[in-house]
Amino acid sequence: MSENIEQIKCLIIGSGPAGYTAAIYASRADLKPVMYTGMEPGGQLTTTTEVDNFPGYPEGIDGPQMMMDLQKQAERFGTEVRIGMATEVKFNEKVGGIHKVCIDNAKWIEAETVIISTGATAKYLGLPSEQRLRGGGVSACAVCDGFFYKNQDVAIVGGGDTAAEEATYLANICNKVTMLVRKGEMRASMAMQHRVNTTKNLEVRYYSEIDEVLGDQVVEGLRILNNQTGEKEEIAITGLFIAIGHKPNTDIFKGQLDMDETGYLITDAKSTKTNLPGVFASGDVQDKDYRQAITAAGSGCMAAMDAERYLAEIETKETEKEVTA
Ligand code: NDP
Repeated sequence: MSENIEQIKCLIIGSGPAGYTAAIYASRADLKPVMYTGMEPGGQLTTTTEVDNFPGYPEGIDGPQMMMDLQKQAERFGTEVRIGMATEVKFNEKVGGIHKVCIDNAKWIEAETVIISTGATAKYLGLPSEQRLRGGGVSACAVCDGFFYKNQDVAIVGGGDTAAEEATYLANICNKVTMLVRKGEMRASMAMQHRVNTTKNLEVRYYSEIDEVLGDQVVEGLRILNNQTGEKEEIAITGLFIAIGHKPNTDIFKGQLDMDETGYLITDAKSTKTNLPGVFASGDVQDKDYRQAITAAGSGCMAAMDAERYLAEIETKETEKEVTA
């Protein structure tokens, strides 16, 4: 065997709650998983502060701390966690075939099963003031962080289903929500728009873009630009939610795995099976609706169980062949 090829039973790509949960289950099932963490070890949760909605933490937990705990738990059962990026894949279409994954354009891993948990990346506007205040009042997840702005005034950017859903979610918690939509109409479904329009403490401003997020250490307000009139106006808020879409991290799987029109991996019915045998997908990379740490963790568990069952079926078939030969 070449030095640059390693053969393993189970490769996990990505180190968010889905990847680590898959790792815990796969290592306890003796699949001896190897995990490559990707560019952002720990995934999206390492960019949030407090995680208050993961069951089992009555006082909440710091996002990065939670990911370190998950890593320790996965390592306790024998998962090998390595820093590195999957840069190319050559998946096998046959049942029992070996899948090849290149790491950092340098080393090839040959795996009987692959669990893809590469997540999705929230899109941001890209304004320097927005980037500076991430974690200081700028968030891309209302369900995760909305609670910290209870009874306060907040704003949300976007006009899709996510923005509409999160705006009404925030309106339940906050004093007032200002929703900024850059066009003269929303992209959200009519039902969601109706919900937005009938929520009393939710004001929609069309043709509105953020010129600057105001505040030094924490968000104190917004300067809004009306892109029709060119007028600028400042409003006071303490929280800004960006809901302009996510990009699933699936570029390297294009042409090999089935995806929807926005790049999310398609899994089979209630399982984590992709269109290729032995390749499974868990977490946000295959879920654009829920996108929560707990739902990602749940599907990570499913992926490890699906991988284990897949290998067990192959083994059973081989044994049957031997017995009848
Ligand atoms: P979408 O891509 O559907 O919408 C993104 C929104 O953000 C659009 O209104 C877009 O404006 C706006 N936007 C994009 N870039 C900028 C920018 N730079 N500045 C200001 N605004 C910007 O993303 P979603 O996350 O809302 O939804 C993704 C998918 O998930 C959709 O298919 C959606 O239907 C689905 N979904 C379904 C849900 C449900 O059924 N319950 C819940 C949540 C999502 P513009 O229209 O001008 O391009």
